Formats: sequence, C-alpha cells, structure tokens
Amino acid sequence: LEGSEGRESGYWRLSRLAVPAREDPGKDFTGISLPLLQAIAKAIKFPVASMLPDEAFTVIRKSFDARKVLKEPQFTYTVDMDVKKLLDMEPRAWDFIARLEPKLGAVEYMPEEKLASDLVSMLNVSNKGYNNEPGIRDTHNGSVCPQDRKPRVAVIGSGPSGLFASLVLGELGAEVTLLERGQPVEQRGRDIGALAVRRILQTESNFCFGEGGAGTWSDGKLVTRIGKNTDGVQAVMKTFVHFGAPRNILVDGKPHLGTDKLVPLLRNFRHHLGDLGVTIRFNTRVDDLVVEDGRVKGIVVSDSELWPGSGSQKISFDAVVLAVGHSARDTYNMLRQHNVDISPKSFAVGLRIEHPQELINSIQYSELAAEVQKGRGRIPVADYKIVKSVSDIGAANELDNAEKSRSCYSFCMCPGGQVVLTSTDPSELCINGMSFSRRASKWANSALVVTVSAHDFKPFESHGPLAGVEFQREFERRAATMGGGNFVVPAQRVTDFISNRLSVTTLPPSSYRLGVRPSKLHELFPPYITEALQQSIIMIDREMPGFLSSEALLHGVETRTSSPLQISRHGETYESTSLRGLYPVGEGAGYAGGILSAAVDGMYCGFALAKQLSLFHGDI
Ligand code: FAD
Repeated sequence: LEGSEGRESGYWRLSRLAVPAREDPGKDFTGISLPLLQAIAKAIKFPVASMLPDEAFTVIRKSFDARKVLKEPQFTYTVDMDVKKLLDMEPRAWDFIARLEPKLGAVEYMPEEKLASDLVSMLNVSNKGYNNEPGIRDTHNGSVCPQDRKPRVAVIGSGPSGLFASLVLGELGAEVTLLERGQPVEQRGRDIGALAVRRILQTESNFCFGEGGAGTWSDGKLVTRIGKNTDGVQAVMKTFVHFGAPRNILVDGKPHLGTDKLVPLLRNFRHHLGDLGVTIRFNTRVDDLVVEDGRVKGIVVSDSELWPGSGSQKISFDAVVLAVGHSARDTYNMLRQHNVDISPKSFAVGLRIEHPQELINSIQYSELAAEVQKGRGRIPVADYKIVKSVSDIGAANELDNAEKSRSCYSFCMCPGGQVVLTSTDPSELCINGMSFSRRASKWANSALVVTVSAHDFKPFESHGPLAGVEFQREFERRAATMGGGNFVVPAQRVTDFISNRLSVTTLPPSSYRLGVRPSKLHELFPPYITEALQQSIIMIDREMPGFLSSEALLHGVETRTSSPLQISRHGETYESTSLRGLYPVGEGAGYAGGILSAAVDGMYCGFALAKQLSLFHGDI
C-alpha cells in the first residue's frame, strides 16, 4: 500500500486499549490476555483476535480506571506491537498494518525501539564518549584538579539525587565520596523502630535523614510531573529494576514500591557503588565548606574520627555535589554564611487526612470495592488525587491581592498506609505518610495542602532567603505545642474542622503510632490557609460523596511538601551561580519534588559535572 513502505519492521505503539475490569486477569498480570488481544484487534481492525500471536506484543503501561464517567471500571493498556515478529508469525496481518494511520495519543509508529537503558548497563556497555584515563584531562571548567589523578568529588546526601549523581560519576571514573549524616538502612530501620516504640527521636537518623534519603520509609510512589516516558525517568526506573525493584513498576500506570521493596533496593545500590570504588561515609554530617577565592576546595565534616588517616575534619575535593534534601536547615544556614545565592520558593502546607481505606474504596469503586481485599485482590487499593482552586479567602497581607485565589491539593496520598512523624527536631512536629508494597493497612491517608509563596513569608523576612524555612518551623512548633509534647499529634474530626469546633467525642482510630490529641486545628494556621482547606474539603465531598465523614481524622501538620527555597545554579552546568565548584541538586536545592524527579536531577548533574571534569564527552 502506498505510504506503508519501510514499515515492515519497527513498532506501533497502541494506547488507550480498554479491557473491562471484570474480564481482565487483574492488576498484577502484565502479560497479554485474550481480552487484551481483542482490544488490540479492534484497534488495528484485525478480524480474529485469537490469531494474533502474544509474542508480538509487549505491555508498556497498565492502569486501572474507575472514573464515574465510564460505563464500567476498566484496565487501560498501552502496548507495543513488534511488526516484524507479528508478520513472521501472522503474515496476513500486513493488510491491516499497512493501512494503520497514526492517531494522536492512541496509535503511533516508531521506526526503532525507543527504549532507554538502565544506567549501569548503559555506562558499562558503551565506552563512547568516556575518558577514564588519568593524565589527559583538560581543565576547561577552571577546575584545579591535577591531570595526573582522578578528580575527587564529594556528594553530600544519599537521597535519590545524591545516589544517582554518585552512580553516574562513579561509573564515569571520578573518585567519589558519598557523605551521609544518617545511618545505613539497617540501623536506620532500628532507629525508626525505637521512635515508634520508645519515642526516641534520633536527630540524625529518622524519616528524613539516613541512607536513601527522605523517601525510604515512604509509600515509594514513582510518579512525577516531569513525564514518565522521558529518557531520564525511564533510565532511573530501569536502574531501580536493575537494583531489584519489581519489573511491573515499568508497566504500572501508578507505580509504587513501598518501604519493604525500597530497603533491599538501597542495599543493592550501596553494594554496587562500593564495587565501583565509591567511598560511603554514614553518620558523617558535612558542617561547612572550605572556600578559597570564590571556589569550593573541600568540606568540613562533623567528626574527624570517622575519617581514618585524615587527622583533620577538613577534606579536599575538586567539586562538591550538594544533595541534602529539604530538611537540612543547618546546612542551609551554613550556605548563607558563604553568601550562596538562595531565594525563597513557593511550596504548600496543610494537614493530613485519614479515612478508613474501605470508605475510600467504596467512594471510588462502588460495588467493585469488595474486590480490593487489602491489596490481594484483582484491582488496586483505591486512591485519589484532587486539585481545587479556592478564591476570596483573604490574603496573607494587604499587598497580597494575587494570592486571594489559592490552590489546595492532595499530596502524597498513601492508600493502605500509615501516618508517620517526619520531625528532625524534638521541639517541632510534622508528619507525612508511608506504606508497604501491598498497601494492606486499613487506612488511607493523604495531605491536603494549600500553596504558599514569598508574600506569606513576610512576617519572617528578617531571615532573608530562609524566611520560608521559618514559616514552616512556626507551624511545626505550634503543632508540637497543640499535641502536648512527646510527638503526640494534634487531631480533629474533619466534620468538626469544617465547623470550627473541638472534637469532643472520642476520636476515630488513627494509624499514627505515637498518639493523637483532640485539638483546634482550625486555629493552627492563619485564616487564609484554614479557609482554603475548609472550602476545598466541601468541594471534594461534592465530587467524592462521603469524603467529609465523621470517620475521617485530620492530623497536623504537613509542612515539608517541598523545598521552601531554591539555590541558584547555571542551567547547563548545574554549578551554583555564586560559588564555583558547588553543584546544588535535588529537592533541597529546589529542583525536584519527589523520588523520581530528584533522582533524574542527580543523574543529569552527574553527567554535567563529568563533562566539566572531562570524564565524559557525549550528549546529555
Ligand atoms: P533527600 O531524599 O531528602 O536526601 C537528602 C539526604 O541528605 C538525606 O539522607 C540527609 O540525611 C542527607 N543530608 C542532609 N544534610 C546533610 C549534611 N549536612 N551532611 C550529610 N548528609 C546530609 N516522594 C515520592 O516521589 N513518592 C513518595 O511516595 C514519597 N513519600 C514520602 C514519604 C515521606 C515520609 C517523606 C519524608 C518523603 C516522601 N517523598 C516521596 C518525598 C521524597 O522522599 C523526596 O522528594 C526525595 O527523597 C528527595 O530526594 P533528595 O535526594 O533531593 O533529598
């Protein structure tokens, strides 16, 4: 057929293939079922589905869709069709394939397989563009690295951004030292256990600090707004699989790992870095930078004992990657002392709402809810994602007309999860959510947060670019006081929050292990935040009847949704605009919001820095 020449090979990507939930083998099956073949046959107008060979198709994405606008709940698939394989096994398919037309968002032709590889395989297999030989490095970035040795790079922080920066730089031949103030996952798990049982908060080893960063004891949602099909995200996801994540994260529409899968993955990641020659120092906080002539020359660590043979807390490096996350407030202060360019950034604050999971299942799935069976059933435990815009809620101050309309959204929803303490200082109280891979707990929790920006930080402007940090701290301290101490969380029935009254009857049970105390959460935040939350909850209930339930409990406070500041850096080199040799990355630097985007940012910084150190000459 005219126009079909050259399409005897390559791939067709078929999207939006719908299989009714009652016919599908279920959420954990990522193979090719007969109902899926029927949907494929319909898409390519092939008359007999059973004649299509399974081997010619690969499921790329599978999502569960129970939106009320649909006739019935369905699984929606994206499938790649390998033309050559299909024609080898069923030559009669050519008549249909030759007529296939690309259709926006539904059918797309790809001449070659467009698949990003995992980073380890990619960096090991191809030597193109790499230069691991000492002695032939130029120093076009003005670096002071002598040419007769490998460049020495310090990476501060072992969260996703620090780990991926270390991986890329280690693979490309830099001498990398990864410094982490917290503990390796084994000890960190024990510290978190002691927090839950004995109320002992280790200030350096907790839900925010330690190996794997803030997202280790989390729901491990692997969703991102930077586009899941981008090369960067695909490379990171495949690297997770390389280190032991289940393959279905590559296919799930809403992939998540859960803490039980994240911990062994991180252990494998650590062993691989060790094999590459990356030195990893846990329990080692970086307290200062050594700066000379406007350039970072090294770091100062918390304890020289941990640095055998150095005899000093000062260690020299050619470049420093700063991947400290959004809770390293002491590190932010230190950067300010060095006049590093920092500016306040918008983020969001609010409360965490918790419902019985069964209630959310029945709101979202109606009669299909019975099939959830605590994560063991055919369909996934129900979640939700809400964004509302509210207006006429009063401004933070008189100058603030633009902020009269604010957005309120659900954040870090954890189906089948639990509410956890994310404080790093015992005088402050903030929370978040986590879950295990099966999402089998009886609760569904999610933050409901309202956007706040520099205008709102005005009362704290004496703190300069760290005003947003003080804004967070103010509400974390209020929450600690309202809870009465000992990490008890202030809580309120959502129905009482809407009516501005204290919950006087016994509160519904909470998944939060350290206890909740009935409190006037409607008085914790300024009215512009409280009113935005109240209006949004009423709107959400219209969309999800039953959401505003006396069984739902609000917990305070959720303040660390993302970084309250941004550290300026050059777009291409990732180097700080104010301090040479410093490479701020990830969420703490204001360039990411979540595990995936932080990992991608760290990865690209690794490549950019390797390029400047002449370890890598390829395209990024
Ligand atoms: P971080 O992960 O914060 O890592 C920074 C690391 O630097 C920490 O390990 C810290 O100990 C270390 N550090 C800080 N200062 C120093 C210093 N001075 N010296 C040495 N080391 C230092 N995101 C998702 O995408 N999905 C989720 O399901 C999800 N759930 C979450 C649940 C919880 C409870 C929390 C707290 C966060 C969750 N997040 C989730 C957010 C996610 O964890 C972060 O966006 C991500 O970890 C940011 O990565 P990062 O590398 O930029 O920083």
